This record gives sequence, structure tokens and C-alpha cells, in this order.
Amino acid sequence: MNNGGTEMYCRNCETTQFCKKINLSEFGDESYLGDCSNEQRRWSSKYPDLQFFMRGRKCLVCKSEFITVEIHESALQELVRLREIWDDITIRLGDFDKDAFEDLPRLLSLFQYMQKAPQSYDLR
Ligand SMILES: [Zn+2]
Repeated sequence: MNNGGTEMYCRNCETTQFCKKINLSEFGDESYLGDCSNEQRRWSSKYPDLQFFMRGRKCLVCKSEFITVEIHESALQELVRLREIWDDITIRLGDFDKDAFEDLPRLLSLFQYMQKAPQSYDLR
């Protein structure tokens, strides 16, 4: 019995539960991500190719409320790949004091830029 909800993963319950759709307006403006053409169709202003469809949800078991987004599968694959790269970097850092590296995302983008940079580029 689904009680009007859709079966999906609830992070709070850490398992699949029935969750009902709720209005995004219940989350307030701070919970909204990206620019929009309407309440649910949105995109990243920094990365316009990241288009998504937002829904508010409420778990019918634990009553937690959360937002889900539907994105193109290639965007999810990109996220997984970036997490893999991130894991590689943190493993290579080993016991290094990671708190001292609050700016790891910029360091990562620098590494990616260096890989694409012409051989003659002066990295100093
Ligand atoms: Zn739940």
C-alpha cells in the first residue's frame, strides 16, 4: 500500500520508503537551487547545461521532507566520475591535514587545467 506516495530512497530512514510529493514552496527560497523557468524546471546559472526538474518530497514513515531533482543521466555519470577523482586525491593525500586544504575544489580544477595546458605553459 503506497498511501499516495512513490517508493524511493529516504536518506533519513536509509532505505526505500513511500514518499509523497509536496510543494517546493514549503522549503523556502534558501532551498532552491539554480535559476528557473518555473518552480520545478531549473538550471545552474554557472553551468547552464545542468538542467533539472525539482520535486519536494515527504517520507510517509519518518515524515522528513527533502528535495529531489531529475537530471540527465550523463550529469549523474559526471558526478560519479568527479567523486572518483576526489577519492583518488584524498587517498593520495593520506595523512595530510585535510582541514588545512579547505580549497581542494580549486586545487582539483588547477590539476585538470594543468593536464590540458600546452606543454610550453609556465605553471609557476
Ligand atoms: Zn524516511
